[in-house]
Amino acid sequence: MINYFKEIFAGLWSLLVGMRLTLGYAFAPTVTAHYPYETLPISPNFRGHIDLVINPKTGKDACITCMMCARACPSGCIELEGEKPEGAKKKVLTEYRLDFTKCSLCANCVEACPTSALEFSQEYQLAGLSRHEFHLDLVQRFRDRCREMGVEPKIADLTPVPAKEPVAGDEGEAGAKKPAKKAPKEAPAKAEKAPEQPEEPTAGS
Ligand code: SF4
Ligand code: SF4
Repeated sequence: MINYFKEIFAGLWSLLVGMRLTLGYAFAPTVTAHYPYETLPISPNFRGHIDLVINPKTGKDACITCMMCARACPSGCIELEGEKPEGAKKKVLTEYRLDFTKCSLCANCVEACPTSALEFSQEYQLAGLSRHEFHLDLVQRFRDRCREMGVEPKIADLTPVPAKEPVAGDEGEAGAKKPAKKAPKEAPAKAEKAPEQPEEPTAGS
């Protein structure tokens, strides 16, 4: 009988000790982030999928459609296209598609880009119901990100470039810049031969 009450008492005591710890932590200040209402700053070295770099002043991208990134990618997950606006000398980027299902985040594309037009995003909240949701249109993302930053996006801008009108005086200047043609070298004047003097008659001849 005594053992029976001892066991009940031990059980209650154990419950109280457990509850003391639980209540202590319940009212202590929290040390974890209340995700998704609260997020922690991401390390600048974090690698999300690649993104096109935005010039925050102009809203332009830096891509010259050289295809180096697509060639450097070991997984073949980059496809891009460019087009020349009417009157322009260079192509502008019109399409940039990334198949993130195949990307290994190796950074070959970022390192190969000659104009530093690519960067790793800080995007880590990626979830989807189909793999097609990870086929990303980076040009559209560029536009959306620009608008979030309050900048007007100027990507894939195919506005015709007006031809430059010649400015008065340009010809003269251009003429002045041209190197003057060298005058043909004159042949060295041959030394004129002195007229032969008649020999003076010698004595006795
Ligand atoms: S990080 Fe690597 S795998 Fe991913 S797109 Fe760039 S080159 Fe391809
Ligand atoms: S390497 Fe850079 S500049 Fe060349 S196509 Fe890729 S993103 Fe554009």
